[in-house]
Amino acid sequence: MENRFQAFLLKYAEIGVKGKNRHLFEEALEKQVRIHLRRTGAEFDVHRINGRIYCEAKSEYDYDAVITELTKTFGVVGVCPVSHIQDKTIEGIKEAAVKFIGENYPDRNFTFKVDTRRADKSYPMTSMEVDADVGEALLDAYTEMKVDVHDPEVFLHIDLREQIFMYSKVIKGVGGLPLGTNGRAMLLLSGGFDSPVAGYMVSRRGVYMDAVYFNAPPYTSERAKQKVVDLAKVLSSYTGNIRLHIINFTEIQMTIYEKCPHDELTIIMRRYMMKIAERLARDTKDCYALVTGESMGQVASQTMKSLFTTDEAVSFPVFRPLIGFDKQEIIDKAEEIGTADISILPYEDCCTIFVAKHPVTKPNLNAIKASEARLEGVIEELVEKAISSDEVMDIW
Ligand code: ATP
Ligand code: MG
Repeated sequence: MENRFQAFLLKYAEIGVKGKNRHLFEEALEKQVRIHLRRTGAEFDVHRINGRIYCEAKSEYDYDAVITELTKTFGVVGVCPVSHIQDKTIEGIKEAAVKFIGENYPDRNFTFKVDTRRADKSYPMTSMEVDADVGEALLDAYTEMKVDVHDPEVFLHIDLREQIFMYSKVIKGVGGLPLGTNGRAMLLLSGGFDSPVAGYMVSRRGVYMDAVYFNAPPYTSERAKQKVVDLAKVLSSYTGNIRLHIINFTEIQMTIYEKCPHDELTIIMRRYMMKIAERLARDTKDCYALVTGESMGQVASQTMKSLFTTDEAVSFPVFRPLIGFDKQEIIDKAEEIGTADISILPYEDCCTIFVAKHPVTKPNLNAIKASEARLEGVIEELVEKAISSDEVMDIW
């Protein structure tokens, strides 16, 4: 069957205001659009016209798959399915408009406005004349429709260029900035609701994402690990390829458990996770930040003082995009991006297994450092061993 739309016009907003860097953003967006479209298996010709990206189908395609991919491309704020008009005479345009509305709007009880742009100045009518003629043809064909030039429910756009096209629907895209415009970050990815959302939010600002998961076999299971792999897979449908590092954290955890006060376990463990994540980040090209799913005050290890103490372990910036979110807002976002169904699975996490009954909520940095001093002579080697245990998976 022939596809109803011959092309998709993509709108982008923020990158339009980046002055001299504009073309870099546009090129990055074009590249990402191509990557996303390739995932649908169909062929498209992607190019820019007048501050928009135009994706012209060169083969049959699956409409739903194309819309899913395009609306998931960071930088795209709107996707407009476009019909090509073959007959360029005004009669042809009018006929095409009547057909377009007939096919796309079963219920025609709405107000509308025709909005013609004449990019091809040799066209024998002005845009206002085309607006008027097409508007009249639609009113004749569909008596339920009404014109409203100020606040119409439906805008019927007609672009007059060597190819004439028509579109009316704008399907909302994820927005943000195109991947590749802002380097890379290392996400500390666990199985919960928070960290996948945090990774998504930073990535949405144009940042490629790698991730590290600390597991603690045999205390944590294979399916807990698989859960993280599955989360990374969903995330990668937005962020592109994710290099996932899986680090065996068992010995470090056991040693902290043996040698340090139990109420400080979580915070000390978290500091070692940060240190290892930073090491991995240093070894990753263009990677200049760590990302976590922490939000202010959510649990004992996420109070202001705990975050201060965690940060002190590393010199890389630590981004916590969920810092001001309530839990329900995070879960809502997880549902929206498609990670919630996986995060909700009840598998154990390395932190919950070794967690103290009453963890410190206001850790004192000096006290924490004094406790950590008890690890000296042992921990360095364990950190090296953990890093060399790194199991790398490329996920996309
Ligand atoms: P999440 O929902 O992301 O699991 P959480 O609410 O369970 O977070 P914590 O367990 O306190 O919160 O973890 C805080 C953050 O530390 C996580 O969001 C994540 O970035 C990181 N983190 C915790 N455990 C791990 C782990 N096993 N591997 C990698 N990162 C982790
Ligand atoms: Mg967790």
